[in-house]
Amino acid sequence: MSRPADPAQSTEQALLGEIRALLDDPSAQDNPLHAPLARLHALASAQHERMERLIRISDGYHGLSRTQMQDISAQFDRHVRRLEKLARISDRYQNSLREVTEALREAAITDTLTGLRNRRYLMERLHEETERASRTRTPYTLAMIDVDHFKAVNDRFGHEAGDCVLQRIAATLRDSVRHYDLCGRWGGEEFLLLLPQTRLAEGLLLAERTRAAIRALRIDLDDAAGVTVSISAGLTEHQPGEALTRSLARADGALLRAKEHGRDQVVTL
Ligand code: GH3
Ligand code: MG
Ligand code: MG
Repeated sequence: MSRPADPAQSTEQALLGEIRALLDDPSAQDNPLHAPLARLHALASAQHERMERLIRISDGYHGLSRTQMQDISAQFDRHVRRLEKLARISDRYQNSLREVTEALREAAITDTLTGLRNRRYLMERLHEETERASRTRTPYTLAMIDVDHFKAVNDRFGHEAGDCVLQRIAATLRDSVRHYDLCGRWGGEEFLLLLPQTRLAEGLLLAERTRAAIRALRIDLDDAAGVTVSISAGLTEHQPGEALTRSLARADGALLRAKEHGRDQVVTL
């Protein structure tokens, strides 16, 4: 695109034309100013032409740099769009990676049969709670629970029915504890309750309530209706500063006594 005509250039060109016409007039040939004016005209014409050439070159550069700028700007837009697309893809990958990681973590700490937390998670929380208890000098209470004569359930109704019974027991245990307590499957037909910042007397009330809830269960199986079960529990209060293994051993000891004393009961130690 060429720039609009410069008014000064046009005036100059018109003036040069006028002088050219005067110089060409035969009546002016003898005028003493004719020769110097003709030289001045030649100089001005050359100057005028040089100026026109410069303006054309400058216009050319202008056009070129504008095209280059448009190219660069289009390239920049393309790069930005590509980067935005990459960022979106990266976000999606990050999100699905986070979801997969969370699902893996959830699977690693959950017992598949009952949906309760598994022993691995219980151990993590027990260590945390033991550390917190020693830091804040506040005890917590532990209950080790074992289903009574569970082998007989399997023997009578089959292993699959035994699984159903374990699921019902697990759900009842979960419903019996407070939202800040932890109930998990320790292994086989054994469960563990972790009652944070809870003294033994308060824990005993909760454990008794739980035992009664299990005793009141009537479980309908394919081959039998209204099957009942009971649990034995060993309860102990973890003392701040004490090793976790000691409190676990004490809870096991209490559970053993509950079995020895006839099952379907909670023993504290
Ligand atoms: P006790 O009152 O002394 O605890 O008697 P018990 O029969 O419960 O104890 P024992 O240790 O002899 O038997 C436990 C049974 O629990 C044996 C085992 O097959 C069964 N069991 C453990 N895990 C599972 C499971 O995931 N599903 C089923 N169906 N049975 C299981
Ligand atoms: Mg057992
Ligand atoms: Mg048992």
